[in-house]
Amino acid sequence: MHINLNKNYKFKCINCGFESQKETFKCPKCGGPMQIIYDNLAWVVDSKIPSMWRYKSLLPEANKLISFNEGFTPIRKIFGVLSKLETNNPTGLYADRASSIIVSSFKNKIIETSYEEDFTLSLAYYSKKAGIKLRVYVMPDNVDPQDLIAIAKLGSEILFRNEIEKSGLEYENPYTIEGLKTISYEIYEKNPKVDKIYVPAQSGTLVYALSKGFYELRQMRKDFNEYELIAVKLHHANTPEILNYSKYRIKISEVSSREALESMISLSKRGFNLKPLASAAYALARIEGNGISIITGSRKISMSESKKYSELKRDIINIFSDNKKRTAYEIWLELNKYSLRGIYKSLNMMVINGELCEEPILKGQRKIKVYWRCEDSL
Ligand SMILES: [Zn+2]
Repeated sequence: MHINLNKNYKFKCINCGFESQKETFKCPKCGGPMQIIYDNLAWVVDSKIPSMWRYKSLLPEANKLISFNEGFTPIRKIFGVLSKLETNNPTGLYADRASSIIVSSFKNKIIETSYEEDFTLSLAYYSKKAGIKLRVYVMPDNVDPQDLIAIAKLGSEILFRNEIEKSGLEYENPYTIEGLKTISYEIYEKNPKVDKIYVPAQSGTLVYALSKGFYELRQMRKDFNEYELIAVKLHHANTPEILNYSKYRIKISEVSSREALESMISLSKRGFNLKPLASAAYALARIEGNGISIITGSRKISMSESKKYSELKRDIINIFSDNKKRTAYEIWLELNKYSLRGIYKSLNMMVINGELCEEPILKGQRKIKVYWRCEDSL
């Protein structure tokens, strides 16, 4: 079915240049982060696939493709600022792009990892689907309890530890970079008329991945118009070291905590439940103008919303008693008493919990999802 491209790539240390043909997550020479370098890069896009896997030929070999149609996220205006909505990913997080590649490439039956906010939840979701056991090491004082519940519900094993000790798979690894770089590809493909891309920077992995995507585009595409890539950090935070090694220029900017919090509040009025750092890129994009901000992720429904959620969930299940497929918009019209965003959130949760199935369909250039009750949940 798919074009069988001869994929030749190697793992290379971002810091010292050490190379290996074998899968390597940390440089054995200097401990630096590794990335994947391809021998031949060619821009081949399978435009029928409404997910980041449309760039399959530019990604590492999938052992068995595990996808919930992550990526191919929309760019929309929020209060006048163009924003790439990573919140539209299956678990509401940009990290889904990384998880999909990780579990697809993984050859073992078990993944060990230390808890990292957002990333671990996404990875647990994908591991479940892949039939891979996820073992998560957690420091009790350093965990989001809501995350922990969700991770446990997804069947991951949780082991408590008292000291910080990174072990097993970390968020920063070559597959994560490959997954996240597809954000750059999507921006190039949609070709919005902007000069700047604003990206929140904490560990720096996301910005680095986008810089890799743009660097590869520069090599592959003559018509590639360079964007100014801006890593946005909070005023008091350090500049992530990995950004020094990018071959594509990254500008480092910062916003004050106050500016980030103001944006966080204003975005919450549009239903985005973001953390201050995630709002920082948007804050700067709003100040400077003519750019796209990457909205990295939204926290799922909180405790206080859970009562309302269970009512809404019951109504949605009732609607699906006829076994027809529907879009979120159609459900919203039928129920006629909830917000469209509330419906989206609930549908997402129900898909994660296995109560509903979803499938994307392409309508023109837009990806639209239809939902139905999976047979085994009837
Ligand atoms: Zn090295």
